[in-house]
Amino acid sequence: MSDISKLREILRQPAKMVLIGHANPDGDAVGSLLAWGEYLERTGHEVALFVPNDPPVFLRSMDGFARLRSFRADDRSAAEAVEKAEVIFAMDFNETETRIGALSAPVEANRTACRVLIDHHLNPPKERFDLCFSDTEASSTALIVYRLIRDLGDLASLTLSMAKNIYVGMMTDTGNFSYGNLTGELYRIIADLVDRGVSPAELNAQVFNVYSEWRMRLIGYALHEKLTLLNPKTAYVALSMAELNRFHYRPGDTEGLVNMLLSIGGVGMSALFTETNECIKISLRSRGTEGVDVNRFARTWFSGGGHKNAAGAKSFATMEETLRRFEEGVNAL
Ligand code: 5GP
Ligand code: MN
Repeated sequence: MSDISKLREILRQPAKMVLIGHANPDGDAVGSLLAWGEYLERTGHEVALFVPNDPPVFLRSMDGFARLRSFRADDRSAAEAVEKAEVIFAMDFNETETRIGALSAPVEANRTACRVLIDHHLNPPKERFDLCFSDTEASSTALIVYRLIRDLGDLASLTLSMAKNIYVGMMTDTGNFSYGNLTGELYRIIADLVDRGVSPAELNAQVFNVYSEWRMRLIGYALHEKLTLLNPKTAYVALSMAELNRFHYRPGDTEGLVNMLLSIGGVGMSALFTETNECIKISLRSRGTEGVDVNRFARTWFSGGGHKNAAGAKSFATMEETLRRFEEGVNAL
């Protein structure tokens, strides 16, 4: 039986379904959850959408955003919903141990649910899932969600809110359609979404043109005061908690900053280090198919992961040690 037939089989009976996205949810995680969640609900299922922590402010005006719940470890009813789910969809991540924070406990506690992966990250652990829709070449998970609805023969039921959420996922995960993985298929899907009423200009403004004054000042400070060029090809910015606090940091305020560093001519790899209460969050970016494989870099040096041109990791060392390790990794390239 083909995977899509198996999925159709799973969707045949109304069931309790839980959809889970990764920590520090981005536009693709949120867009995919909202679009696929709406689809499942419209097909008669009981659906709950969870992410491990709050999405950034600029995603909060997405259609249906209020349906997304930030999981709290002490919220028994949320934990029970996950533990009792009949189907669990893992969306836009594939490492249940490291990418979903406190959600991993109820997910692991649920021994009976059918587990379905919908994702585009490298190295999917297929043995952990009953069904995998993993395409590591796809530029976003939202694109895979569109394909699933199409392959289930249900494009007629694609609502405007689903179309908008899929578009936001595709827009944000391609760096506003600037990365190297833009395909004809992507643009054909965009054409269809636009025909269904999606306004690219409106969604672009909704997601990208909503900086707070403090966010803009933080970016200015980071670029002016904190930009470090390790060598002509490698740029990074490291921000301590004190610096973030000084600029009234809110989740998402540094989004896009690591990409800006790649706009320096000749720079082929960039990094952003942000200190949090738990760890130092590392974001890595590179350019093009010939560029540094930052997924491999993140795995080798920081036990992280992601994609060839966009990856991330957590470091539990001090900022100083983390930067030293980064420099060591860069010198070894
Ligand atoms: P960002 O820099 O936007 O937070 O993350 C870029 C990509 O790196 C994400 O799509 C995600 O796949 C990956 N990523 C970010 N943080 C981590 C992490 O801590 N562990 C792993 N394995 N991947 C990460
Ligand atoms: Mn994604």
